[in-house]
Amino acid sequence: MSLFAAVAMAPRDPILGLNEQFNADPNPSKVNLGVGVYYDDNGKLPLLACVAAAEAQMQAAPKPRGYLPIDGIAAYDSAVQGLVFGADSEVLKAKRVATVQALGGTGGLKIGADFLKRLNPGATVLISDPSWENHRALFTNAGFPVETYPYYDAANRGIHFDGMLGALNAAAAGTVVVLHACCHNPTGYDLTPAQWAQVVEVVKAKGLVAFLDMAYQGFGEGIAEDGAVIQQFLAAGLDFFVSTSFSKSFSLYGERVGALSVVCASAEEATKVLSQLKIVIRTNYSNPPTHGAQVVATVLSTPALRAQWEEELAGMRVRIKQMREALVAELKAAGITDDLSYVIRQKGMFSYSGLSAEQMQRLRTEFGVYGVDSGRICVAALNSKNLKPVAAAIAAVKRG
Ligand code: PLP
Repeated sequence: MSLFAAVAMAPRDPILGLNEQFNADPNPSKVNLGVGVYYDDNGKLPLLACVAAAEAQMQAAPKPRGYLPIDGIAAYDSAVQGLVFGADSEVLKAKRVATVQALGGTGGLKIGADFLKRLNPGATVLISDPSWENHRALFTNAGFPVETYPYYDAANRGIHFDGMLGALNAAAAGTVVVLHACCHNPTGYDLTPAQWAQVVEVVKAKGLVAFLDMAYQGFGEGIAEDGAVIQQFLAAGLDFFVSTSFSKSFSLYGERVGALSVVCASAEEATKVLSQLKIVIRTNYSNPPTHGAQVVATVLSTPALRAQWEEELAGMRVRIKQMREALVAELKAAGITDDLSYVIRQKGMFSYSGLSAEQMQRLRTEFGVYGVDSGRICVAALNSKNLKPVAAAIAAVKRG
């Protein structure tokens, strides 16, 4: 009997499975809208000019690659803090935030989850229904029972806000609530500032622990607008968690650049929390890699590169919005009379198209248009060339 004879085959990652199916499809006009990646109008993954410029600077003065500190590059951590909390914010002046470099947004969530498990082992974690599929797995693997709060309201093409508030109100003190700070994945529906205010109130009143996942800052309305929810949590005087990802906003997916920030009640607490986060990191992967974080730190702290980044990020955001509008216009031109304004209201890279699993399957098999069976399509993978055929395919499956 071999050591691994009893190992069962794990289920395939549904999105990666979709990619494999896409790659094997011989249809020359196939379009992959299943991905969670921003492509430019030529259907290419962009290398941002600000990133190339930072890398050129780094190459001009190459440095040896020693180990980084466990919590990462100090200039990177403080650039992340400035971006997330506002460079002049009181909370930073008071040194109340513990920030560590992490392996992408996923790494930030995982460090936070492992720390929370030590802090409050009996807690339950609530995620949105639906949510980014890795939220459940990640918090489950960290040892938490994971439940959901209502979020998507299919009938009204929006958020089931009463249901969400009800679930938060009913949660036990100490429950960890994972919230998408902006550009909700997968639905694209975000809370309004007034709705956020109510969420903040319940989190405070019920003693819940907010964990804000910020994977798309700058893809919704703008860097400050997308980060505004953080200011609401700060104003309420709450302690909370924020994970940051630069995978999308810097188009640095493979460099694994992210962070975890923990807002604490005092500088003393933040120092202690940081010491615990470092243990979590040390016993997982010891210390983070150098390249991607150095690129991001250089861009964020060099005024000309930062301005260039903000412009390039705005370019991605505007192109996605144009694709939303163009998709709706094409569907109308194809005779679809449904109210499709929700596609334009949605924020970020994704649209919950409202198509059924059966319609999504028809899109794949009959038209080579690949999206997720939940109806999620990546609007950031639409471009001026594939838009018309995709709209024609969607119109055809909508007509039945
Ligand atoms: N959180 C959400 C909501 C996401 O959609 C993603 C990526 O798709 C992540 C976190 C993970 O980001 P990263 O690739 O930086 O780990």
